[in-house]
Amino acid sequence: MAKHNRIVLLGPPGSGKGTQGALLAKAMGVHAISAGDLLRAEVKTGSELGQEISACINAGHLVSTDLIVRLMVQAFLSPENAKGFISDGFPRSIEQAEIFEQIQQQPEFKNKKVDLALLIDVPDSYILDRILGRFQCTNCGTFYHDKFKPTQIAGTCDVCGGKEFAKRADDTEETVVSRLRIYREATAPLIPYYEKQGLLVRVDGTGSIDAVSERIKEIVGY
Ligand code: AMP
Repeated sequence: MAKHNRIVLLGPPGSGKGTQGALLAKAMGVHAISAGDLLRAEVKTGSELGQEISACINAGHLVSTDLIVRLMVQAFLSPENAKGFISDGFPRSIEQAEIFEQIQQQPEFKNKKVDLALLIDVPDSYILDRILGRFQCTNCGTFYHDKFKPTQIAGTCDVCGGKEFAKRADDTEETVVSRLRIYREATAPLIPYYEKQGLLVRVDGTGSIDAVSERIKEIVGY
C-alpha cells in the first residue's frame, strides 16, 4: 500500500481532526500542524495581531487568508517538517486552497506537495456533544472529554498529573453555530475540490478514538 506523507485533514469542527491528527502524526513520525493552534499561540503573546485574531476566533469567523497562508506555508517548509506533515484546519476555503495550490507549484515545494485529503466524516448529531464536552490540560495540552475521554482520576491529567483544565474560549454553543455555518459554506466545498484532483479519501469518524485511528492508519499506509 502506498504511504502518504503530506496530508490535509478535512472535517467539521468536532470531527476529531486535532485528536486524530496527533495520533496519526505519532504513527508517521511527523508533526501535525494545526492552523487553530498556530493562531492561538499568537493570541497568547498578547500582541496587537494576537488581539485581532482572538476577536475573529471568539466570533467563530475565519482570520484573513493572507495571514493563515503565511503561517502555514512557513510551517510546511520548515526543516523539522521536511519528512512530511499533517495539516489540521488548513485550507479552510476554496480561496485558501487555490492560493496554496499556486504556492505548491513553486520550486520550494518540489516533492513536497499534498498527497492526500482525508475527510473525517461524522453526522451533525455528534458535533455539538463532542465540542461542548471537551476540555484540555492547561499544563501539557492533552485533550479530554466529559463523556468520551474522561481523565482516569477525576481532576488529574493522565499524562502530566496537572490539576488545571480549561475549555477553549470558542467552544460555546453560540460560536459553534457560526463555526458550523462557515464549515458548510466555506470549507465543505473543498470536498469536491479535492475529489476532482483525485486526492480525497473519506473515513468514518464515528466510534472510539482508537477505532477511528486504526481506520485512518490503514488508509494512510501506516
Ligand atoms: P480550530 O482549532 O481548527 O477549530 O480553529 C479555531 C479557529 O481558528 C477557527 O474557528 C477560526 O476562527 C480560526 N482558523 C483556524 N484555521 C483557519 C484557517 N485556515 N483560516 C482562517 N481561520 C482559521
